[in-house]
Amino acid sequence: MAEPRPDAAAGLLSDLLRGLVRDVADYPEPGVVFKDIAPVLADRAAFAAVVDAMVGRVGAGQVDSVVGIEARGFILGAPVAYHAGAGFVPARKKGKLPGPTLDSAYELEYGSAVLSLQADAVLPGERVLVVDDVLATGGTAAAAVDLVTRMGAIVVGVSVLIDLTFLHGPDRLPGVDVHALLAY
Ligand code: AMP
Repeated sequence: MAEPRPDAAAGLLSDLLRGLVRDVADYPEPGVVFKDIAPVLADRAAFAAVVDAMVGRVGAGQVDSVVGIEARGFILGAPVAYHAGAGFVPARKKGKLPGPTLDSAYELEYGSAVLSLQADAVLPGERVLVVDDVLATGGTAAAAVDLVTRMGAIVVGVSVLIDLTFLHGPDRLPGVDVHALLAY
């Protein structure tokens, strides 16, 4: 029997994920539809398929570090790093990492936030994949890309489980290879 084509396999995976992601209306605030990925993480086949797809996208042995964005980016980024043969680096909200840190401020829907990396977390010239659960406006991922780039490292891509395409997140990431397993 013929192997499934890669695009057909990707379609099957997004169908599986779409059936598991739970929409939570008006969370964490009125008007927001929160994409709850907990059922994806709890499903052994779906969780493994997500990690495998993220690793397959860059290729095992092709990245030095995976930067996972607090907090759900940690859950996906750590196994991706392990299977890609890379180190794992947490990008955290300001004040959570012992210094010295590099900080990047970014806009949220209401107000602003600051993302931090430890200053020696990635080295100049290293190849880095940024991982998070959801790309919304792209501000958070853009802050992570800014930090990695300022350290002199190379962002090989941003990998997310979900892209909320109506918010045009990739527009905030010009020149960056953005990949999502599921688009809304
Ligand atoms: P943004 O900076 O607007 O791209 O927001 C992305 C970050 O906020 C990610 O770390 C997500 O975990 C979280 N996020 C934003 N919008 C949602 C949503 N609708 N559902 C779940 N998480 C979200």
